[in-house]
Amino acid sequence: MADAVCESLALIGVGLIGSSIARAAREFGAARRIAVMDASPQIVQRASELGIADLATQDHAQALAGADLVIVCTPVGACGAVAQTIAPHLQKGALVSDVGSVKGAVVAQMTPHLPEPARFIPAHPIAGTEFSGPDAGFATLFRNRWCILTPPENADAGAIEKLTEFWTRLGANVETMSVAHHDAVLALTSHLPHLIAYNIVGTADDFGDETRSEVIKFSASGFRDFTRIAASDPIMWRDIFLANKDAVLQMLGRFNEDLSALQRMIRRGDGEGLLEFFARTREIRRSIIEQGQDTAAPDFGRRAEGR
Ligand code: NAP
Repeated sequence: MADAVCESLALIGVGLIGSSIARAAREFGAARRIAVMDASPQIVQRASELGIADLATQDHAQALAGADLVIVCTPVGACGAVAQTIAPHLQKGALVSDVGSVKGAVVAQMTPHLPEPARFIPAHPIAGTEFSGPDAGFATLFRNRWCILTPPENADAGAIEKLTEFWTRLGANVETMSVAHHDAVLALTSHLPHLIAYNIVGTADDFGDETRSEVIKFSASGFRDFTRIAASDPIMWRDIFLANKDAVLQMLGRFNEDLSALQRMIRRGDGEGLLEFFARTREIRRSIIEQGQDTAAPDFGRRAEGR
């Protein structure tokens, strides 16, 4: 196997993403030593039982001792406080990164606390499930998924190269873009779909008991796929919407305009318009499958995904 990308990896927060990085880093030889740190004693205990790292601890200093790569894997809202706490324990020259689903707010919260801002390379692996916690992670989560890096203008070139190599070793395809571009793209591809899913499931929940039980019984007609997304972690998604407020509100404005256009077509009986619209959207699904970001298997291909 090729040499490890880093000597000592420290992961702060060992939920779905942190534990998947730990598992993948070990399985694919990306780190020689792995330490995980979490604020919750139960999660540290569980990470220890699962044996996904060489050290599982609640102590920042212990986790960061000798670490040349530190990745913050907590909910976005906790990143600023975490950066402040870890700063005094960072080894000189350590590369710091994160996995937050929003980049602008995370960069603004973390950068002022870090001793070597040019060695802070924010990242976002576009991979996940609706589950949380260390039991939910798996080593192949990042395989053939994108990981977006948003380095600052003065970023250390060696740090970008090392993080690119790390994520590539974990199976991801790496792309670099600006923080603002990331937040606009993700507002449309991830944040808006989650908001729509939360909303539609919430609407069903507001109906009376009889309608609600029918919604569940006949859910395979479409509703079911929204419920998977709407089962995502509430804390994580609260933080994302608060942190990416401007971009989400802008996309929501566009979405509302398009929804009104569809509403008008239905009201006017404009079958041709609806047909043209749905044919266009079907093409998008085809492109996603062609690019390997999903399979054409039934059930959205999820059961077919290798773990
Ligand atoms: P998760 O399963 O809930 O794990 C987060 C972990 O961080 C929990 O164990 C949590 O402990 C711990 N934590 C919270 N505050 C902490 C602190 N101050 N210090 C140390 N540990 C702390 O969440 P996740 O799904 O792995 O998400 C983590 C990050 O990845 C988020 O920023 C999210 O935006 C990003 N992300 C998620 C996905 C996804 O699909 N899930 C995909 C890409 C990126 P407690 O539970 O005790 O609070």
